[in-house]
Amino acid sequence: MSGLMMPVPDAAVLGRRGEIVAALTRIVGAEGVVESSVGLKPYESDGLTAYRQPPLVVVLPRTTAEVAAVLAYCHREGVKLVPRGAGTSLSGGALPLEDGVLMSMMRFNRILDVDFEDRVAVVQPGVTNLAITRAVEHRGFYYAPDPSSQIACSIGGNVAENSGGVHCLKYGLTANNVLGVELVLITGEVVRLGGRHLDPEGYDLLGLVIGSEGLLGVVTEVTVRILRAPETARALLVGFSSSEDAGRAVAAVIAAGIIPGGMEMMDRPAINAAEDFVAVGYPRDAEALLIVELDGPEVEVDHLIGEVEAIVRENGATTIRISVTPEERLAFWAGRKAAFPAAGRISPDYLCMDGTIPRKKLPEVLTGMQEMSARYGLRVANVFHAGDGNLHPLILYDANIPGELDRAESFGADILRLCVKVGGVLTGEHGVGIEKRDLMPVMFSEADLDHQMRVKCAFDADHLLNPGKVFPQLRRCAELGRMHVHAGRLPFADIPRF
Ligand SMILES: Cc1cc2nc3c(=O)[nH]c(=O)nc-3n(C[C@H](O)[C@H](O)[C@H](O)COP(=O)(O)OP(=O)(O)OC[C@H]3O[C@@H](n4cnc5c(N)ncnc54)[C@H](O)[C@@H]3O)c2cc1C
Repeated sequence: MSGLMMPVPDAAVLGRRGEIVAALTRIVGAEGVVESSVGLKPYESDGLTAYRQPPLVVVLPRTTAEVAAVLAYCHREGVKLVPRGAGTSLSGGALPLEDGVLMSMMRFNRILDVDFEDRVAVVQPGVTNLAITRAVEHRGFYYAPDPSSQIACSIGGNVAENSGGVHCLKYGLTANNVLGVELVLITGEVVRLGGRHLDPEGYDLLGLVIGSEGLLGVVTEVTVRILRAPETARALLVGFSSSEDAGRAVAAVIAAGIIPGGMEMMDRPAINAAEDFVAVGYPRDAEALLIVELDGPEVEVDHLIGEVEAIVRENGATTIRISVTPEERLAFWAGRKAAFPAAGRISPDYLCMDGTIPRKKLPEVLTGMQEMSARYGLRVANVFHAGDGNLHPLILYDANIPGELDRAESFGADILRLCVKVGGVLTGEHGVGIEKRDLMPVMFSEADLDHQMRVKCAFDADHLLNPGKVFPQLRRCAELGRMHVHAGRLPFADIPRF
């Protein structure tokens, strides 16, 4: 893998592959184990396809008891394990390890209970995000967080990444919509955090687990809130001659006390790529495009549409279209929802970055990105969850041209450094994974990282769950003075000693 430092594979574990496969087969049955090189191929990367690594073996458990038995085995035998949902992570969170078991949760695909009275659904982690809404929409309900990948990504992956989407500005991220989980610890112990109600007792361990990127345990059940679908929704499609004007309009809408159901922005390269792809009438001459959706009771939505129209006009809108029918509203969104695949048509490869900034810093960050684009000689197309200040610059490159991936990665790192410099953060919703791992010290001090690692060590002292992710290299429980040498075997032998 190019330039990325991962934990050195443990030769002893590699040498015991046959024995490990046999043990896993005893737990889940032969149909739940994938070991052939052809069978392992689909698992060798996630959505961050720049990095690939076939796992030692893939295991597909079907029950919590099987998950617990596999984890207990890995714990006992010192074998690493990477949990995987649908493999759509854009930060490399589900990248396998050569000497690690990859646990796919895709056979956990059942909706266990829907309680319309309590407004909760209890689902297995391999259920796709969209399938939850599909299961409750006949009664006028839906599950609010809606990543663009919702047709494919799993709710277990959403929990691990604290995923967001267009509707999260108004309805919150995964963390605000998950009430409880069942979690299996690396020891095989099964714990329940939260339940069917808000505000669980004791420490907020559920909050700790949501967004923990598969480093603390394997989620085997999720209880989510379901919401009543809004009575109506309408959207405005607004073009601007500069992203500064669009950025000001976003800030003005929020400042007016209006919280749209979604407020997304695209820059000119993204507008054109999307329009080429779905042809829904996006204004190709606009430098920035804003889609603002208002939802709620019809009378309120009609009123707010008028207010937002006035605000965007005051801030220099050059074109305004307002949806009248649901079909028209969906057409406005079609280009935005297809922005990532559309970028795939204008470039052989792209890196999708994910940083968050204070909204008012948008013009400064966009200017900075243009300078970087010229300096690195790489194009960039931008889509934003504008209301949240969450940027998704798509850096376009060609992996077949030597050096372009390295340049794209350096460009991406500079964008994230800029996000932190203007008061933002390294990630909005895609997680840290391997992608932003080595940038963590840009945002966190040594003491911050040590404290975060102490939490990790409390759950997984041997660092067997998803190692190599989130924490910059050379930071393990061993470095926190907790090294225990057993039978002359030095733990974390791959860490250089000083
Ligand atoms: C085209 C496209 C668009 C996207 N749009 C968005 C978007 O709008 N918003 C957004 O937030 N993200 C988006 N993503 C990123 C991705 O879809 C999300 O991060 C998603 O939550 C990952 O889910 P998954 O099931 O694919 O998880 P995976 O990719 O399989 O895994 C992601 C992480 O979760 C861990 N994990 C998975 N399942 C479990 C489990 N049961 N227990 C413990 N840990 C687990 C893995 O170890 C890994 O660290 C997009 C991705 C693509 C490809």
